[in-house]
Amino acid sequence: MNVCEIIEKKRDGEPLSGEEIRFFVEGYTRGDIPDYQAAAWCMAVFLRGMTHSEIVDLTMAMAESGEMLDLSEVLPISVDKHSSGGVGDKNTLVVLPLVAACGVPVAKMSGRGLSFSGGTLDKLESISGYNVNLTQEQFLAQVEQHGIVLSGQTGDLAPADGMLYALRDVTGTVPSKPLIASSIMCKKIASGADAIVLDIKTGVGAFMPTIQDAHDLAHLMVEIGSGVGRRVTALISDMNQPLGCAVGNALEVREAIETLRGGGPPDLVEHCIVVAGHMLRLAGKSKEKDLADVRPMLEEKLANGEALELFRTLVRVQGGDVAQVDEPSRLPEAPVIVEVRAPRSGYLEGLDAHEVGLAALHLGAGRQKKDEPVDHAVGVVVHHKVGEHVEACEPLFTVHARSQPAADSARERVLGAHHWSGRPGFPLFYDVLYSDEDVPVGGHRDAPPVDHV
Ligand code: URA
Repeated sequence: MNVCEIIEKKRDGEPLSGEEIRFFVEGYTRGDIPDYQAAAWCMAVFLRGMTHSEIVDLTMAMAESGEMLDLSEVLPISVDKHSSGGVGDKNTLVVLPLVAACGVPVAKMSGRGLSFSGGTLDKLESISGYNVNLTQEQFLAQVEQHGIVLSGQTGDLAPADGMLYALRDVTGTVPSKPLIASSIMCKKIASGADAIVLDIKTGVGAFMPTIQDAHDLAHLMVEIGSGVGRRVTALISDMNQPLGCAVGNALEVREAIETLRGGGPPDLVEHCIVVAGHMLRLAGKSKEKDLADVRPMLEEKLANGEALELFRTLVRVQGGDVAQVDEPSRLPEAPVIVEVRAPRSGYLEGLDAHEVGLAALHLGAGRQKKDEPVDHAVGVVVHHKVGEHVEACEPLFTVHARSQPAADSARERVLGAHHWSGRPGFPLFYDVLYSDEDVPVGGHRDAPPVDHV
């Protein structure tokens, strides 16, 4: 087999066989196929799409490119979550300790930022000393002993995805349904998840701009998961405006801590309760799809500090500085902080999450080149969400920057992201798809099978 022929075949829109996909994935993982050929292949997939069976083959080839973790020795049931990527989405930092506080141990491997969307590992590394590089033994021992672990992919877990993920980040090939579905599902399959809550974002600040795109992606992932015996719940959530207010690594950690202390922006709190509730449901702790039977417990664990205590435990056992959790003012702080005031009065009818994400990226919160370090201190905090009334000259947002010129350009971009007329606000969630029973909300079971996506 020849890698050029595989690239050309995909470029010309022909489906690849399972052997060809495995040849490509194994060759890239071994280092026999260089980045430039892998980048060309990703772009061909981005432009031409893949059939359902190609996507399943790609998922399994990536899952099997390294070790497959078996959590059954340490967990009765392993419930995981994953988001398809968005702006200001720090929900993992809240949801994991919240679920653990409800008595369901959680073991999660997260990723880094991807394009304009932030990554949990970059956020966690804002906390001095927090170790995201655990060995498999450490990962398993920690969840067994403390009921919570949150790290990067251990070196040997789906290494093909680790490499392709970093390459896609800087080659314009992130927003592809086959590549996102296989990237997310291979990690979940390799990391031994029995049940998975997928948080599929849709809107201008997501990789799936329309609800239909998000549905297609959700269907694809639910099918891949149930095809290999996993229970999957896919939430379709809004990403037209940032989730919560903070965008940028340390700023988001602060907001997550505030939420774990029983405060936090209402949309973030609600989002975390819904995601955590669905995880509890998959773990057998809730019988109701509307989560009414677990909501009071989730609210209580946020209000009474038990979820925060689990976060403190997580930080401590992974080598992080707990003093920064207790006093978030000790987290990295940018040298230039500029408060921007509203240029007019009116209702805020749009807050473009993509533009806010790009502003944070250009401030240094994300990467523009593979393996570049990120600046943990910088970012943007918005002070008003869609639907709110704002008076002229009220604080509208704050830019945290490394330099005045960087702050100035972020200021312009974020000002342009605020829209003052037109549309009503967005709902937080649009739909839920279940792999396990009856007809999903919205009747999408009748949707035609996905062919080329
Ligand atoms: N999250 C992932 O793990 N992979 C993607 O491709 C997008 C979001």
